[in-house]
Amino acid sequence: LLRATALQKSFGSNQVLKSIDLSIDSGLVVALVGPSGSGKTTVLRCLNGLETPDGGTVAFRGGPALDFGPKVSKKDALSLRDRSAMVFQTYNLFPHMTVLENVVEGPVQVQKQPRREAIANAERLLARVGLADKRDDHPFNLSGGQQQRVGIVRALALQPDLLLFDEPTSALDPELVGEVLTVIKELAEEDWTMVIVTHELAFAREVADEVVFMDDGVVVEHGHPDQVLRNPRHERTRRFVDRLL
Ligand code: ATP
Repeated sequence: LLRATALQKSFGSNQVLKSIDLSIDSGLVVALVGPSGSGKTTVLRCLNGLETPDGGTVAFRGGPALDFGPKVSKKDALSLRDRSAMVFQTYNLFPHMTVLENVVEGPVQVQKQPRREAIANAERLLARVGLADKRDDHPFNLSGGQQQRVGIVRALALQPDLLLFDEPTSALDPELVGEVLTVIKELAEEDWTMVIVTHELAFAREVADEVVFMDDGVVVEHGHPDQVLRNPRHERTRRFVDRLL
């Protein structure tokens, strides 16, 4: 579905992504793990067009390979946004809008879906995650777990090819983590293609088809969860896993 090669990104003199290669097959769940500051969030943001890489290429199935050289156009860089949708660590819901308005905003304003259709779709998705009765509430009246489920519904409503999750449970109280992980697990079983940045290694081992371990702006190793998390090839991976599992 997606192939990224030699992605690079610096913030000032801080080279956050040195050269990232990533290949994501349709229907698979990839867990992106690694120490804090290794560049995981930046990878997701580059794939989603929220950041423009300084170099490298990104190609989605059926689309052109975007070459992020000095000559890349803003329009090309932004075209990535149509292919994926992001679920953020701190939900990023619009506080002044109701739950329903949050979900239909993208489909109606950006994708120009007919409003009635977008609302019907939003209601169906909210019911799916057990939030049908919250449609007219504002985010501040919801628990963190409920807000994040709305965040997931908002991403699904865009009908993207790829779902990107940026530490979707790390802002949640421990007792609310389970309800969000359950929704993600169900999506995995439905063959959504997903990249999940997570510190929950037990969860990664359970749902991911592939684990990618990043450190210091590079992919150190990737492979089947059992191999990377139980029997890593690299010392850096081993140290990381031993600390967290
Ligand atoms: P964490 O697990 O803590 O979220 P991460 O692996 O996701 O870490 P990133 O959030 O990608 O790492 O950040 C990598 C580095 O890039 C950090 O040093 C961070 O300070 C820096 N960084 C990220 N975004 C920006 C930005 N917009 N401006 C300047 N520096 C940034």
